[in-house]
Parts: sequence; structure tokens; C-alpha cells
Amino acid sequence: MPKIKNKPPSLVADWDTLHRVFIRPEDESSRKTLVKYMEQILFGLHDFLNKHVGVTEEISLIKLAEDYTDTKINKHPQKKLADVIKDIIYEIAPRAVNVASPYFIGHMTSAIPFFMVHLKAITAALNQNVIKLETSKVLSILEKQILAKMHRMIFNFDDHFYFEHVQNTETSLGVFTTGGTTANLTALWAARNKSFPSKENFESIEKNGFFEAMKAHDLERSVILVSKRGHYSLKKAGGILGLGNRNIISIDVDSNRSIDLVKLENKIKELRADKKTKIIAIIGIAGATETGIIDPLPELADICKTQGIHFHVDAAWGGPVLLSEKYSHLLKGIERADSVTIDCHKLFYMPMASGMVYFKDPKALDQIVYHARYVNRPGSVDLGIKTLEGSREANSLILDSALKIMGSKGYALMIEHGIEIAEQFAKMIGQRRLFQLVSKPQLNILTYRVVPVDMQKKLETADKKERQRLNAILDDINIKIQRIQREAGVSFVSRTRLKDSPEDHYNTVVLRSVIMNPMTNIDILNEILDEQESIFHNLQETANPNQHIV
Ligand SMILES: *Cc1c(COP(=O)(O)O)cnc(C)c1O
Repeated sequence: MPKIKNKPPSLVADWDTLHRVFIRPEDESSRKTLVKYMEQILFGLHDFLNKHVGVTEEISLIKLAEDYTDTKINKHPQKKLADVIKDIIYEIAPRAVNVASPYFIGHMTSAIPFFMVHLKAITAALNQNVIKLETSKVLSILEKQILAKMHRMIFNFDDHFYFEHVQNTETSLGVFTTGGTTANLTALWAARNKSFPSKENFESIEKNGFFEAMKAHDLERSVILVSKRGHYSLKKAGGILGLGNRNIISIDVDSNRSIDLVKLENKIKELRADKKTKIIAIIGIAGATETGIIDPLPELADICKTQGIHFHVDAAWGGPVLLSEKYSHLLKGIERADSVTIDCHKLFYMPMASGMVYFKDPKALDQIVYHARYVNRPGSVDLGIKTLEGSREANSLILDSALKIMGSKGYALMIEHGIEIAEQFAKMIGQRRLFQLVSKPQLNILTYRVVPVDMQKKLETADKKERQRLNAILDDINIKIQRIQREAGVSFVSRTRLKDSPEDHYNTVVLRSVIMNPMTNIDILNEILDEQESIFHNLQETANPNQHIV
């Protein structure tokens, strides 16, 4: 790795240099360096990432942190722009994680199409702030258009509906957010406010606060129900919205690993019996973060309809599957939701940070309207009136352009690839004696673990206590394998804890793979399993024979 020497302190911050730094590269040679590196990033992104990112010698986090302890801000410039970029490429990039590698199948952050970087750069260059029309103009209008397109993808109302709302300044079909977390928060914020209509001496929960809302409605508790696979952003929403996160109630999953409808209905009955409890929303997950499993949305929609409860679908992960004619049926029932979260920086393959939330009712966001005299005026197109976020970049431009470049069919191909490769991966896992598939992929996520054959046999006949003991040993093995593989630096799967079977109370360690990189193929997955097998055998060989791990 070429080291860049610190230049002598010859650079000074004055108006002259500032002027140059602000407007354009300093001279021909800095321009050349800039072009040289930016060209690689703009036109050879994937080669660039493979060559430069995550290829460093092994370095511990502690050692790495030692290089980053100086806490004083430099007064004068230390480096020129071109040198800073060189540093990023040679010192930062090798120590970053190559999430774009097709061997990196552990998380929802993965490779993105190279043109996304161009779109991101142009969006940054325009620097429009869609909080208000005065700083965005056409981008606010464009955002409303793309919001209507997505709304149509989810709810599929008729032409008349979209004609009426696409550019309607009084209504709102959805909003862009910084991600799934704030999209969920926005949905539940609107649902909470709707749950407490005004009364005598009480205007709104937004104005009067939680305590007065509960008093006015003669309540003692407000809750939201979701399966135990619910994303932890929902708990945060519980905290922020004043419900308390213990009131985001987790419902068990059944043998399909989706929400147990019987347990849900029992819980609703129990909560309803107590007249002092209000159910603000029920959440269906469309692609659970850990397992990819989709809740039975039509059944949840029925329950919500009968009970008059807000139905939110957290499709942060699975939402874009709607673009696939082949697999959109998996999300059937989503069109009956009151609100839907979809992330852009997951299966829309956009750079971070971008998400969206949609509402069936174009007036739903009136629940969270905020005005400020200097920026967001009532009745204007100012999108910031109905968003949690304040200043916001024009991510709609990236999504709109990406859809133009790839078409829904292009997205569908990538998503279908993930689903089908995951299916084949599950089969491969089933065929290998050392592995046990834990959660079957419904979308493009699956979980599995290493279970040596003799252990598998023992588990079959073991009682509860013995199972727990065996599982603890297996946890240890799987944690080690995952860590050793990650540290070796070629492949990466993540790990989490799940119940081995729904009857078990013990959460076992499982390996989790998320397949979204279109370059990840079955051969690569085979290699990943081979590597895990050989790590396992090495562990066995090196283990002290007296305390053999199995
Ligand atoms: C990723 C995810 C979230 C959170 O989204 P962020 O963009 O990380 O804030 C919420 N729900 C589900 C189901 C997710 O997969």
C-alpha cells in the first residue's frame, strides 16, 4: 500500500486558496489526479471496489482505533483535495468493508448498480432541498409524481384517483424518509394521532400530549402489535411516540415463522377486555429482517378491518418485490394496508440513506402537518409540511432515474435472481450433512446452522434440557465459524439468534444470508459452504482432544 507522506505545513487558509478550493481544482496536476481517481469510480466502479476496498492486511479494531485518536481540528489545510482523495483510496478504502463483493451475503447492504453513484453525484451537485418549493421547484413536483407511481404499485387505485392526487397540493400519497426506521416512525406517528380524535377540551395528541390524550379518552395504555420478528425500529417508535416500548407487544410466530394469528386474536381479545387499553396499530411484516418471512397479510387485513385498527405493513425489505410479476403474489394483501414502509437503500438498490412510507388515504398525513412561517406555508407544495425529516435531498430523482434506466422489469430480474438463488442455496444446505436449514427462504433471506451428524441424531431424541445443552455447544461452534470466516476476509454471512423450532424456548445461533447481489451465484454459495465446512474440520482438529467440541 503506497503511503502518502504528510506534506510540510506549506498550505494556508486564506481567501486566495479558499476561492480556488471552492470553485475548481487548483491546477492542471490536481485536476489530473482527480480525474484519474474519479474516472475509476465513475466508470469502473465494480473493478475499483474489488481492487481497493476491504483488501487490507488484517488489522484489529483496537489497533485501527489507535490511528484515530487526535481530537484537534487543524487550523490550516493539511492536504490538497487530490491528496485527500488518494488517502481515501489507499488508506480508508482498504480498511472499509467490501459490501459489493458477491461473497458478501450477510446483510441488506450490498452492491449497487454503478449508475447509482452518478445519480447520487448529480443529486448532490444540484443540492436541492425538497423541504420547500423555494429550494427545489421541479424536484418537489417530480417527487409527487414518483410517490404516486409507487402508491399505484402498492394500492393500484384507478386512473381517476391518481389524476386527482398526483399533483394535488392538499393531499399526500406518501413521503420520502431517510430509511425504514423513520418511515415506520412516520406511519405510527400518523396512526397514533388518528387514534385520538378531538373531544371537548382536547384537540389532539400532537398538541395536548400523551397524558391529556389518555385522560380525555379515558385510557391507561396504548399498544401496537407485531410479531416477535418486528424490526427494532418499531420499539424506538414506541419510545419516541410516548407509548413506551414495552407497549410494542410481540406476538409469537407459528411453525411458518410468521405471526401466529391465533395468538394475535387471543391477545386482541385480552386487550379489548380491558376497556382502558387502546390498540393503535397492528403491523404485518413483509420480509422480516432476520428471516425474510412475510406475515399473512390478507388475514391481518381482515382482523384490522373487523376491529377498526390501523394496519401498517413494514415492507422495508420486501416492498420492491411488487415489481416482479412472478413473485408479487407473495405480498398479496399489502394493498389493504393503511400505511406501508419501503426502503430505497435495500431492494431498490439505491445508495444510503433513503426510504419511503405510503398511506392509502391521501389525507392520512394531515395528522402530522407542521407549518413554519419562513418555510412551509399552508396549501403550498412544500413537502416538508408533512415529513418527520426537515431538510432532505431529492432522493426521488435517483429512484425515478433508476426506474427509467432499468424499468420495473430490470428490478424484477435482480429480485427474482435473489429469490431463486436463495431457493437453490436452501436445497444445497439440505443436501450437505453438516448443515441444517433453519428458516426456509420465502424471499431472498435464509438461515441455517452447522450441526454435525452425531449431534443431529442426539437432538432428535433429546429432552428439553439436553436439547438446550446441545444447542449451547452448537451456538459456540457456529459463532466461531462465522467469526473465522469473516476474519479470513473473503466471504461474509451474518449471524443472529432464532428458535430452532417454535415449541422451543431457547434461541439458537444461526447463520443468516441475504442474497441481493446479482453477481452472487450458486458456485459462490458452494464455496462459502465449503469454507465453512473446512473451518469446522480445522476447529475439530485443533481442539484439545480431551475437550473435543462435539
Ligand atoms: C431494514 C429494515 C428496517 C429499518 O430500516 P433502516 O433503513 O435501516 O432504517 C425496518 N424494518 C424492516 C423489516 C427492515 O428490514
